[in-house]
Amino acid sequence: MSDIYKSIKPAPVPYPRFTQEMKATHTILFPQMAPIHFAMISAAMSQEGYRTKILENGGPEVAQEGLKYVHNDTCYPALLVIGQFIDALKSGEHDLAHTALMITQTGGGCRASNYIHLLRKALRKAGFGQVPVLSLNFSGLERDSSLRFTLPLVRKAIAAVFYGDELMSLSNQTRPYENSPGAADALIKKWQDEICRQFAAKRGVSKRDMKRNFAAIAADYAALPITRVPKVKVGVVGEIYVKYSPLGNSNLEAFLAAEGCEVNLPGLMGFVQYCIVNGSQTVKLYGGSPAVKKMYELVFDFVAAREKLMVQAIARHPGLTPPGLFTHTMALHEGFIGLGAKMGEGWLLTSEMVELVKSGFASIVCAQPFGCLPNHVVGKGMIQKIRAEYPEANITPIDYDPSATRVNQENRIKLMIAVARERLEGAVEPAKAKAGPPRRNTAPAPTGQAAYFPPAASSVPKNSARYRK
Ligand code: SF4
Repeated sequence: MSDIYKSIKPAPVPYPRFTQEMKATHTILFPQMAPIHFAMISAAMSQEGYRTKILENGGPEVAQEGLKYVHNDTCYPALLVIGQFIDALKSGEHDLAHTALMITQTGGGCRASNYIHLLRKALRKAGFGQVPVLSLNFSGLERDSSLRFTLPLVRKAIAAVFYGDELMSLSNQTRPYENSPGAADALIKKWQDEICRQFAAKRGVSKRDMKRNFAAIAADYAALPITRVPKVKVGVVGEIYVKYSPLGNSNLEAFLAAEGCEVNLPGLMGFVQYCIVNGSQTVKLYGGSPAVKKMYELVFDFVAAREKLMVQAIARHPGLTPPGLFTHTMALHEGFIGLGAKMGEGWLLTSEMVELVKSGFASIVCAQPFGCLPNHVVGKGMIQKIRAEYPEANITPIDYDPSATRVNQENRIKLMIAVARERLEGAVEPAKAKAGPPRRNTAPAPTGQAAYFPPAASSVPKNSARYRK
């Protein structure tokens, strides 16, 4: 390229920053994703002096607003989130002079790191260029307009994600069998209120408090009167936003519940742990500072110690099933995908599918947003390989995009449920497993530090199972 072109730099486009003074004057809008978790995270932010509001506006107009202001080959989550923001700003419900928007940036190689620029551009086009956008990230991006994490806020956010995961897991495994409809949901509300009260009193975040709360939540669900009857068990995996967000996945959880299924949604903390492990893997695979690697390992240990408490609390009750430890989920990548596949949900998505199949949730909806190449590779792209290993796997990839009709999505899921129901009633046997070597991944998960941070792909001999086709 000629030097003359190299010297041409685009003029910086000015945009309003979110300043610390705005904490007191501006309401921060952010999109809903995981309703159980976000209610507690929002409360934690309010207690730290932020005025927050989770957006619940939905309907087809949200996607239409997105299509108007974002290029139509942008990933669907970005299109929806930006559409939801603009729809909210146009609603007239918010004082535009005192409103800010918050959006996440993963800091990874995926496009999620760049949504913020798309949002600012869309705001200018829609006539809301004066509205400041705040970045939520742990990667040091957008330093002049990002959420400042204080230690109390970080501790509350971590605790909120764990409590949310426990409530989500326990309500999903009891709600379909409850004797009094609404009882499992009433416990969610009871514990959300209790945790927010504890946060306000500077409690609920220490290891000791979390252990006590985990045990009390599990005891409440174990005491819930239920009648277990055979039900179709359906797991849900996918790109993080469409996996959890009712707006993104056309209310998938509610639909599966209405079809009489028991739903299993792997926890949100798994994604956080995946991001932490990826930080360490990056240093292992591509080089970098040992100090940075050590830092990721310490953060991982901090989180893993609390995860263990939650799993132990649930495991004490024979009627409840605890989620697998992350180290176990992680070990399941072996033989399917390398740990270097870390764009989007990367190896985690594949591992979660394997874990669900192995734990009796052989029917899986793999939620894939339009425009999401990474998750098509690690999701849809891995289904055949998983089926070859686990013939009972009944995985249906569902595409979510502005032109896909809900009826179409639901009809495909109904077909998957019909197959699962036939199997449940013993009418159809899954195809016999191919003759060949014994199943991989049946060995117990490694423990200790080695379990959290297994050797990098480059240090694994080429004849290892990881390289076997
Ligand atoms: S994971 Fe998929 S949907 Fe999310 S930013 Fe990356 S490409 Fe887009």
